[in-house]
Amino acid sequence: MEYEVVIGLETHVQLKTRTKMFCGCTLEFGAEPNTHVCPVCLGYPGALPSMNRKAIRYTVMAGLMLGCRIAPYAKFDRKNYFYPDSSKNYQITQLDYPLCLGGGVDIAGDDGSRRTIRINHIHLEEDVAKLTHRAGCSGVDYNRAGTPLMEIVSEPDLRSADEAIAYLTALREMMIYAGVSECNLEEGNMRSDVNVSIRPKGQEAYGTKVEIKNMNTFSGIHAALLFEIDRQKRVLEAGGTIRQETRRWDTEALETASMRSKENADDYRYFPEPDLMPIALTEAQIAEWAKDLPEAPGARRARMTEQYGIPEYDAGVLSADRALADFFEAAAQRCGNGKLASNWVMAEVLALTAKTGTALTESALRPEMLGDLLKLLEKKTINGPTAKALLPELFEKGGDPEAIVKERGLGQVSDSAAIEALVDAAIAANPKVVADYRAGKKAAAGFFVGQVMKASKGKASPQLVQEILARRLA
Ligand code: ADP
Ligand code: ZN
Ligand code: MG
Repeated sequence: MEYEVVIGLETHVQLKTRTKMFCGCTLEFGAEPNTHVCPVCLGYPGALPSMNRKAIRYTVMAGLMLGCRIAPYAKFDRKNYFYPDSSKNYQITQLDYPLCLGGGVDIAGDDGSRRTIRINHIHLEEDVAKLTHRAGCSGVDYNRAGTPLMEIVSEPDLRSADEAIAYLTALREMMIYAGVSECNLEEGNMRSDVNVSIRPKGQEAYGTKVEIKNMNTFSGIHAALLFEIDRQKRVLEAGGTIRQETRRWDTEALETASMRSKENADDYRYFPEPDLMPIALTEAQIAEWAKDLPEAPGARRARMTEQYGIPEYDAGVLSADRALADFFEAAAQRCGNGKLASNWVMAEVLALTAKTGTALTESALRPEMLGDLLKLLEKKTINGPTAKALLPELFEKGGDPEAIVKERGLGQVSDSAAIEALVDAAIAANPKVVADYRAGKKAAAGFFVGQVMKASKGKASPQLVQEILARRLA
């Protein structure tokens, strides 16, 4: 039997706020356990929460970026359960009045066509504490408790593991773009509950779904989906039925394993959070926040192609990452040559980030430095090899290219008399090569260019060397 795969994702995205959702504790990944806590996030009796305005604003911005409707009325609810990861014995979340409704994420589907994966809603909630289990004991770290999280819930519109990854990749790009989250996967900034079912091809009704909890790597999600799809097929083929349950991905055994049968909303005895006012946003407030929304990646790609006269391909690579696009635009504006800046960013700068494993934003290279370096190159103050040699140093330590060039005398030698002298010396020292050249071995010219460049310590204008050499050898 042929089956169709149905996937829906519930993705938790950590908001880039300085403090927690309902208290003033600061957020710091990797801090000493239980050093960023207070009576509110530790759930002391009588401690009252207050809303983080920035988290509301960021969630609205994320919603606008995804084309959601912003709810005119939203509220928080308590989801009650007993577990050490929540000392209050409930989690504050949003059940029936979430902040953002509808919207979608465009992906390239498996068949190559563009498809919109519908978003059901985005709600805002607080993260819970982190549990660490060691032999004989378990530890609880409440630093993470109360971290603001958006939960972005997709409709079951995805049809394969590849599409799920395409969706997450696009979603991540948009959230980083909107500036609302770092979406740092290693730090667990983006974690998904993966819902998957299969149904006989042509059947309209969805099959019973299984939920794989709390996945934080794209490769893990892909592998877990392939495993789970295959497992469900095998169960059905053997005449069995799929049990609605929650499973977890075992990263050692590379298989999904049952955790518990699916719980219902009723089990959590949700009720409205009595300590927080509902959220009622005015149109004017939403419009004000919308002003901070950056251009969406697609629109930016089109504008950059136009404005800087760069190929679509370049614009696509550069706009994929907002920090990279910002860097490129600042460098291009500084040097006044978009194509030159694009070539250097795409080839040299990205090569350096790959080689050193240092993100561009963490390097010392500021776009103004690259812009100035390229200006020196354009003015022919320095030559290409010198510019290339300086870049890794700027990347690592930063600096003023013009001052460095002046201080070390790296300016290109464009003085014909000086170059003529070097050319003549090279010719005089290598009569055999001259003879070869004159006998038709034109490649011998390259040898002389090399000799002269070396004699000038790399500073001669390669163009001028070639011109003079051609004249002298003729
Ligand atoms: P629940 O009531 O179990 O929480 P929801 O309807 O709220 O289920 O959906 C939760 C997530 O599961 C959503 O992302 C949704 O797209 C996805 N989902 C729902 N039904 C299915 C299904 N049959 N197969 C795969 N995913 C599904
Ligand atoms: Zn706190
Ligand atoms: Mg649900």
